[in-house]
Amino acid sequence: MATSIIRGKYVIARTSSGVESTTIISDGAVFQSDGVIEDVGPYSTVKAAHDADEELGGLNYVLFPGLVNCHHHGRGVTTFQLGTCDDSLETWMLSGWGRRPHDHYLMTAYTAIQMLESGTTTVMYNHTQTPATGLDEDVSEIIRGFSGSGMRTAFSVYFRERNRVVYADDQKFISSLPQGLGKGLNRYLAATDMPANDYFGMFRRVHEKYETGPGSKVRVLLSPANVQWVSDEFLQETKELAIQYQSGIHMHLAESPYQKEYANRQWGKTPVGHLNDLGFLGPELSCAHAVWLTDQDIELLARAGTTVCHNPSSNLRLKNGIAPVNSMLAAGVNVAMGTDSTALNDDDDMIQEMRLASKLHRQPWLGEPSLTSESSLAMATTNAAQPTGFHQEIGVLETGYRADMVLLDLRKMEEPYMDANIGPVDALLYRGKGSHVDMVIVDGEVVLRNGKPTKVDKDEIVRELRERFSAPLDPQTRDVRTLVAELLPHVARFYQTWQSDQGEPHYRMNTRR
Ligand SMILES: [Zn+2]
Repeated sequence: MATSIIRGKYVIARTSSGVESTTIISDGAVFQSDGVIEDVGPYSTVKAAHDADEELGGLNYVLFPGLVNCHHHGRGVTTFQLGTCDDSLETWMLSGWGRRPHDHYLMTAYTAIQMLESGTTTVMYNHTQTPATGLDEDVSEIIRGFSGSGMRTAFSVYFRERNRVVYADDQKFISSLPQGLGKGLNRYLAATDMPANDYFGMFRRVHEKYETGPGSKVRVLLSPANVQWVSDEFLQETKELAIQYQSGIHMHLAESPYQKEYANRQWGKTPVGHLNDLGFLGPELSCAHAVWLTDQDIELLARAGTTVCHNPSSNLRLKNGIAPVNSMLAAGVNVAMGTDSTALNDDDDMIQEMRLASKLHRQPWLGEPSLTSESSLAMATTNAAQPTGFHQEIGVLETGYRADMVLLDLRKMEEPYMDANIGPVDALLYRGKGSHVDMVIVDGEVVLRNGKPTKVDKDEIVRELRERFSAPLDPQTRDVRTLVAELLPHVARFYQTWQSDQGEPHYRMNTRR
């Protein structure tokens, strides 16, 4: 049996929105045996009660639960590095078609290394639907990349079957384009076509292969990409399968004002309202972004126990605005957090993402809501655990939970001085950096030591990626880039008339008069 005691000057055992409901143990420790936490308390008590193989950490560290990145697409070498600058979501996505192909194992291993280096132990990975041929192989390479580095993974492949160019019927839109462009687009779309039955078959195979029991570090989720990209029948079948397999459902929702407008034109409803009509909302559902919500949407999400994965960086970078997180928390929505592979510094640093969230949701005027450091940390730990399939297994450091945790070097964070009145959660949220992360433990195993991954050779992964990406751009990708460049002005024209007044904002950040 492998056992260890992990000690911290502060152990942040559980975080929720208030200071009073956050558990911090000064000079505390965790005792874990074979990946399960068996004791948490003052160091002296834990030490006296258990004889451990190894003692880690010490008084120079703050110990907190491994962070959970609740929405991610696994692009460690980012979309920007692959040539696509930030833009409005609708055009940015099309530009992304011109990303060069990559090796899935290498890309994922690199992504995992970046996340571990900044304290993330679990990722909700959402695979962008690639050409259906070879999908099973891509999936196993991706899971090998995460598992091989020691990460816990909530895995899904997203499914899209309609409105893939603009938010209108594919063929109707394509028929409005010059013939050559239309032909090229049809060829491109045909390569990613996948019948719904094939998708569900793939889900069953992956689920059976990787969810091998309670010890598995992989959970497999279903993922309709977004409400405008799939049929109602697909959503209904997804829901049935989720109940049958007791799996989670992860999707994008109400990310951009155009998506809200599409729902209004199509159903006379908001995207959340449409899902509610279908009986699709529920605690098994988590929705990334959810920026363009009405008060009623928020109430529906809260009542259904549905999680919202807040992606502040991505929402800013892709011109989608600021999600009403304060209103959601006040209504009781479970709000989690993720970087969407589009973090502010173009890395995958969840500490930075928590900081951004805590600064973004400070509404002007005394007495207006401000997101606390505790809420921000809760969104990346306790709240984020809920939709992953590892609910009540991760996100807190308490007896019975899996031993996933981070030791962050306090000296580096506080240097040369920190007032004694500053609590460790505020210190982490104001000053913590990924580079202060010293050790990361997943399932009791040290997967990052002295800031370096222990299970994969980072230098080798980077070297191989550099070598492969140094090859000249392949002709197919070059053709796709030409196609997209030709397409973009037509797309801009399509959306020209879509600006609509969607009412009073949740936050008043400035005024005109
Ligand atoms: Zn996304």
